[in-house]
Amino acid sequence: MSSARFDLMVRNVSMASSSTAWRPRTGWLACNGHTIAAVGAPDDPVPSARTVIDGDGGTLLPGLRNAHTHGSEFLARGHADGETLAVWLSSVWSRLDGLSPQDMRLAVTCGALLSIRSGVTSIVDHLRRNPMTDEVLQAAIDGYEATGIRALLAVMVRDRLGSNNKPVGAGHLTSLEPAARQIDRIARFAARTPDRIRIGIGPSASIRCTDDLLLAARDLSRDAQIPIHIHVAETQDEATSERAEFGMTAFQRLAQLGLLSDMTACAHCVWMTREDFEIMARSGAVAVHNPVSNLRLGSGIADLPALTAAGVPVAIGTDGAASNDGVDVWEALKYAALLPRRNGALDGISSETFLDMATVSGPKALGGQSSTQLGITQLEPGDPADFCIYPAIDAPFVANDLFASGLVLSSPRRPRHVVIDGVHILDNGAFRLIDEAKIVAEARQTAARLFS
Ligand SMILES: [Zn+2]
Repeated sequence: MSSARFDLMVRNVSMASSSTAWRPRTGWLACNGHTIAAVGAPDDPVPSARTVIDGDGGTLLPGLRNAHTHGSEFLARGHADGETLAVWLSSVWSRLDGLSPQDMRLAVTCGALLSIRSGVTSIVDHLRRNPMTDEVLQAAIDGYEATGIRALLAVMVRDRLGSNNKPVGAGHLTSLEPAARQIDRIARFAARTPDRIRIGIGPSASIRCTDDLLLAARDLSRDAQIPIHIHVAETQDEATSERAEFGMTAFQRLAQLGLLSDMTACAHCVWMTREDFEIMARSGAVAVHNPVSNLRLGSGIADLPALTAAGVPVAIGTDGAASNDGVDVWEALKYAALLPRRNGALDGISSETFLDMATVSGPKALGGQSSTQLGITQLEPGDPADFCIYPAIDAPFVANDLFASGLVLSSPRRPRHVVIDGVHILDNGAFRLIDEAKIVAEARQTAARLFS
């Protein structure tokens, strides 16, 4: 029997997190089970552990959270380039709404693997497939579970028909599953998912849902204590239609129906009125900023400085891989930092705040659950063991306030090791739980079938 004091130990690293104001400190870090158990300075005696990772002088950072993506899009990277959201939606989804359970599992697995490879340990997947089925949803859960990543699957629901009698934003569909069945599925699955995988409810967008469905989503969120995840004010066309059809903005309508709270995340928030900022700030809902996707589809640029100035919690997302065309949160952070400067505003949000958005403050606002469930870590004893170790050359070389700026602007993208929930997932660049080459070979065949 092993006499090792800890399950897992990382030595010979510099560590930085929100709790050190993103200044690196050298030393070692030890884990037991799912949590960080001890942190030591270089001179402290290094305790024994069953698994020892040599950080090789590299940098250990908390795992990032991708707060908005669509896993089912992963096989459609590069598709419908140069199209606006309206055209893109029917082009991409006329193919992806038919994903089989096997296709769905493959798509989310690939997305999770690339996410882990780019430093993401936790994903919010606004999971779409019309119609959703128990088999497809279970396949997505199984796919994520097998990779070891944390995921919130906010299952997409929609029920509103346009004047042409077709689903709003999904004109290729001829019918929709009854709303009650969509809600019932989410309630059933929310009660029985594995630890690292959780279920939420994801109205597609306010304009794509009736009042009845939005109210049912609100009630399910309250009764089952699950998060609400929804696209809001992504394009100018949608914002204009909302006003024309409901006589108010999407934020006003969602607030009126009781959907905005600290259990709610609103993806995009590009087209907002002054009052919308106040509504969001009062509600406690989080805005998920997706700068790369918004540029890819020509949707506009969310006013991030105005959101933060209003006191709205902000998280960072990539959006789906068909409008990004990856799942790289470091890249999204860099865009988020640079876009407000396009008109000469150079003194905006600090680099430390951006890093907090991707690791602490944004994730904490997503659904009101405990830090442990969400995998939020500041690399302190008792925190979840969710972290990445980057090669020494991949992070800034100084330990002062240039370090945070260097991280955001130089984007260290390829960790050598990743630990999620105390499990060593990526080991010196190789996945320990998954045969990546086999998955990629299958994905090539499936993507060719779907998109050639
Ligand atoms: Zn989206």
